[in-house]
Amino acid sequence: MMKHEIQETAIPILQDQYGRIKRKLRISVTDRCNFKCIYCMPEHPEWMKKQDLLSFEALLVFCRYMVGQGIENIRITGGEPLMRQGVVHFIGDLQRLRALGLKRISITTNAHYLAKYAEQLKQAGLDDLNISLDSLDSMQFKQLTKKELAPVLDGIEAAKKVGLPFKINCVLIKGQNDDQIIPMVKWAKQHNIPLRFIEFMPLDGDQHWTDQAVVSEAEILEQLQPLYDIQLLQQQHEPARLYQLDGHYHLGIISTITHSFCGDCDRIRLTAQGELYNCLFAQQGLNIKPYLLQVIKQNTELKQQALLQLDQQIKPYIWHKAKGYHAIQHQQARKISMHMLGG
Ligand code: SAM
Ligand code: SF4
Repeated sequence: MMKHEIQETAIPILQDQYGRIKRKLRISVTDRCNFKCIYCMPEHPEWMKKQDLLSFEALLVFCRYMVGQGIENIRITGGEPLMRQGVVHFIGDLQRLRALGLKRISITTNAHYLAKYAEQLKQAGLDDLNISLDSLDSMQFKQLTKKELAPVLDGIEAAKKVGLPFKINCVLIKGQNDDQIIPMVKWAKQHNIPLRFIEFMPLDGDQHWTDQAVVSEAEILEQLQPLYDIQLLQQQHEPARLYQLDGHYHLGIISTITHSFCGDCDRIRLTAQGELYNCLFAQQGLNIKPYLLQVIKQNTELKQQALLQLDQQIKPYIWHKAKGYHAIQHQQARKISMHMLGG
């Protein structure tokens, strides 16, 4: 091994002070979005300059390093990831990391452009998708997102047609779409589509969140109990608590506010301009862009030095990850919201 080389080993080394090992990486490829979901986007978004976005070349360097450190799943998100030109090609490039231990490549999308890209995504080697769908009522959908429902439903059909597995994510907000709990479950159950309700988190762009706007896991179950036989399943290693409905259908609820999953969190996130966040609610990110740019520019020996510097920044930052949402929820509001961080 060369003097500056970083060990690529099977031993998991992205670990925080509470013993949580990082296996999942979420990378935002753009902060831009064609939707304006009321729980996410600010009324007047200030987009990052296109030249400030991390290039796919830099992202690939980063992903390779992270897979070398034990990352097994990469999720591409945004903003709306299908709005970044070249994203399909990038997914193709990520395939090379499977030989180093990468197991899953996923994308989270609003599905508006999915009908156009589903086949290409499948061909590029995407494993699965999360699709956001907050209402089956077209008027309500438009109120929530400022866009039409029909292209999203077409996108869902296209994913089915090309054989891309997907889950539906539905964020519930009191007085806005909590009347969709039963219709969404009926629809998903009938079509055997995995559905996960998500409790509204204080990550909206204009910081209008209040706990009164949260539709809690308990309230969701209360609406469903008269209609279904519901059993709580043993929690797997994922944030959703899973319920079995009528002995066969599995419904997930991600209840960060009322049952935080932070104790088992194995995620780490990168913004589109190269800031690493050790938690969705972290006050401070770590700017790793300068290190990635150095790696790209340098010859082999200096490249290793730059990678070592990157390593020396990332490991302590991950180590100092806070305990979780309940430990940091009362800190002062920060500027970065969900459309920048990627959900
Ligand atoms: N544009 C893509 C989409 O909507 O699927 C990907 C980015 S979006 C920020 C990722 C996920 O975060 C979506 O499922 C969205 O519903 C969720 N999300 C955004 N803001 C949220 C909030 N304040 N609370 C809970 N979930 C939120
Ligand atoms: Fe766009 Fe996704 Fe945010 Fe909606 S949740 S505004 S689709 S980034």
